[in-house]
Amino acid sequence: MAGKVYLVGAGPGDPDLLTIKAVKVLRSADVVLHDELVSPEVLQFASPAATIINVGKRCGRRHASQEEIHCLMIAYAGDGLTVVRLKGGDPLVFGRAGEEIEALRQAGIEFEVIPGVTAALAAAAAAGISLTDRRMASALLFTTAHSQADKPDARRSILQPFPGALLDSTLAVYMLGSHYSRLQGDLITAGLPPETPCLIVSAASTAEERIHLTTLDKLSAAPILPPPRILIAGQVARTARLSSHPETEARLVPG
Ligand code: SAH
Repeated sequence: MAGKVYLVGAGPGDPDLLTIKAVKVLRSADVVLHDELVSPEVLQFASPAATIINVGKRCGRRHASQEEIHCLMIAYAGDGLTVVRLKGGDPLVFGRAGEEIEALRQAGIEFEVIPGVTAALAAAAAAGISLTDRRMASALLFTTAHSQADKPDARRSILQPFPGALLDSTLAVYMLGSHYSRLQGDLITAGLPPETPCLIVSAASTAEERIHLTTLDKLSAAPILPPPRILIAGQVARTARLSSHPETEARLVPG
């Protein structure tokens, strides 16, 4: 009999932010295929008997290709095993789960998705801000600074048609990359005013958490905090509680 694949959200780093269901399936898994971002503390919930494979990639270092990940999931589940495909944050937010779900469907493998706390929510919690504070924002947009190689204009085409709507929105920008000048230009071109508050949150929910507050016009000069890092742009960022690490702090200069 075929096994089952669980697409599980590992949350932003703090193991206490795992769901009880995630912990339950991790304990019962025969195989855990995890991304680079998943913390060792989270992996400790797996059974000592489980096969644990890091299929993630980071900084260009190659682990498994997307096709290899599909093959591993299908092969292990085909052998009747319980497979946990463990991804940072929520598996359905910038996690390539769409491709994995398609591959599992085509192979006739049963699967279940277990949500996790996505980075934008952990960043907001760290900064003590409401992403949809009704006095400042009526929409929340999850987007990325990292475009697919074959679709270089994918992000722009999302942002550009709605410049008016962006004024009333909070943007959570995942996968910031290592310099912010292009992102800064793109956000200004998309219609965000230069004085828009911008919050960069690094390693949200972990002991290494750092928060830097700036404005869009100064974004390109902001410090490159250690990865993973996310940008929260919008008026709601104005009231952020900054980290206890003064060297990375910069107070918001009134626009
Ligand atoms: N599925 C994940 C996102 C994967 S893409 C989620 O739902 O959070 C990887 C990006 O997520 C990183 O480049 C970074 O932008 C963001 N990210 C993940 N964990 C983070 C953390 N603890 N703090 C800040 N950003 C994080």
